[in-house]
Amino acid sequence: MKLKEYRKKRDFRLSPEPPGQQDAPAEKKAPLIFVVQKHRASQLHYDFRLEWKGTLLSWAVPKGPSLDPVVKRLAMKVEDHPIEYATFEGVIPKGEYGGGTVMVWDSGTWRPDHEDVDASLRRGELKFMLLGKKLRGSWVLIRTRGYGSASDRSWLLIKHRDAYATTEDITTKAPRSVATNRLLAEIARDEGGDEDQAATGDPVRKATKRIREKKTLSRPRRGRTQEA
Ligand code: MN
Repeated sequence: MKLKEYRKKRDFRLSPEPPGQQDAPAEKKAPLIFVVQKHRASQLHYDFRLEWKGTLLSWAVPKGPSLDPVVKRLAMKVEDHPIEYATFEGVIPKGEYGGGTVMVWDSGTWRPDHEDVDASLRRGELKFMLLGKKLRGSWVLIRTRGYGSASDRSWLLIKHRDAYATTEDITTKAPRSVATNRLLAEIARDEGGDEDQAATGDPVRKATKRIREKKTLSRPRRGRTQEA
């Protein structure tokens, strides 16, 4: 059972995460979906998930994806997630597995370069195209030699050189949810989570504050003009 590890780690009476269907849906033809969930848990990371055979193959990317082909981002292979997880955005209660705030940071469809994805995974090199709102074009996941117990779980996520490659930092340039346009702090606030903890994952905190101050200062002082 592909979701056994996923279910074992979670208590669905306490967490709003989906348990997934008992039997994974039948294998379907393209398009396959992908999702990247920004997750402010004990450590901030981005969960990179690719639909395959009815579940979501998953990697945790601590620094998030980079559109710069010279940047290799560590991606730790984690347990498969149910397909329903792709739309999950909200708060996992404190103390539960992965407790913290989850954002749907990017979503869209993906296509493997080679049909036999299982063979690519065994070989440790998965090349694919992404058609998302933030991530597009050609990418590769390459298994690498990690350390100790993580040795068989360490992969690198790398952007291939193409029209979508850029040195611009997409994680700071586009920090909001593609589903609800919210920042992590706004999701936490709306869903009863820890807003301050979530905010530490948002890169535009100071900028937002500055804009707010500027608006206050430039507000037309209509009342005073009329009095004068
Ligand atoms: Mn996670």
